[in-house]
Amino acid sequence: MKAIALVTSGGDAPGMNAAIRAVTRLAYAEGFQVYGFEKGWEGLITNTFRKLTPRSVGGIIHLGGTILYTSRCDAFKTEEGLEKAAQTLAENKIASLIVIGGDGSFRGAYALSKKTDTQIIGIPATIDNDIFGTEETIGFDTAVNTAVAEIDKIRDTAVSHERIFIVEVMGRTRGFLAATIGLAVGAETILVPEVKINEAEIVRTMKENTAKGKRSGIIVAAEGVKSTNKLMKTIEKETGAEVRFSTLGYVQRGGNPTARSRLLACLFAEKAVELAALGKENSIAGIQDGRITQVKLEESCRKEKPSSPQLVALAKMLAAYYRRQPKNTLAMS
Ligand code: ADP
Repeated sequence: MKAIALVTSGGDAPGMNAAIRAVTRLAYAEGFQVYGFEKGWEGLITNTFRKLTPRSVGGIIHLGGTILYTSRCDAFKTEEGLEKAAQTLAENKIASLIVIGGDGSFRGAYALSKKTDTQIIGIPATIDNDIFGTEETIGFDTAVNTAVAEIDKIRDTAVSHERIFIVEVMGRTRGFLAATIGLAVGAETILVPEVKINEAEIVRTMKENTAKGKRSGIIVAAEGVKSTNKLMKTIEKETGAEVRFSTLGYVQRGGNPTARSRLLACLFAEKAVELAALGKENSIAGIQDGRITQVKLEESCRKEKPSSPQLVALAKMLAAYYRRQPKNTLAMS
């Protein structure tokens, strides 16, 4: 019987378990055995795995986190670590390795692909949604919904106390999560790492909004935006408003996956097992224009997913109280 190695790596994302379940069951149907390696790349270095069966992955589709555990593994970034992992794949006669994880995990997978003949397939799972080749990743929708529910509660206090809240969401280098959350909560301002903060513009917009009767506000900031502390002080000084800072932290990564995250997990798993059955290219599964697609692993690692500035621009339009102005005179800044 041919064997598939399955691993979850990097930051956990809700829906990873749904992917583990779907890969295992579909792989069995194709005549594969499935070895679940534990703690991300570390499990491949230490050769630590358990056999997964269609029954053993029952009752997990609704659980956040990952039953295979995950880790950030520095040893995997060394030649020695990669060679040990390649040796593990050879020893266990693994035909295909399926890695469920984010862009870092895929870069690791690409580095490993240079040391092994085992086929490597990626299933995009990260709340950051920052992987080239797919419009959405497993866990993103869940994280957006979790953050929106929390920020709706923060808005109650913002409105009651007439305060501005700067709410920090995850996203060290990319603002996909912040932009989507910001739009969905009706944030007055969205700050993403890709765009430099323009304090003067933020203050001006706030003053304009106050003049129009707006007495509170939500600013959604990705964690990669470093100068939020300074911004807080500037807003207080320039507008006289009370500003509070709140970070959502790890709650964004946990919780039961939404139906959408589970569905994506099942669809990506189907593509991954189909690719394993073909046994050829190193690829990742993706979704583009509503269709499940295949993208070369190397291409996904080498290219950067383009930003979506229209989300931030649209949020700005919706937050400002423009009245009875012809469409073409709406100021975007
Ligand atoms: P995510 O997959 O969620 O983006 P990380 O960025 O932490 O998470 O990456 C997960 C792991 O992938 C790292 O801890 C490391 O073991 C491995 N990895 C990341 N980049 C590389 C690389 N260039 N070479 C080898 N391994 C890497």
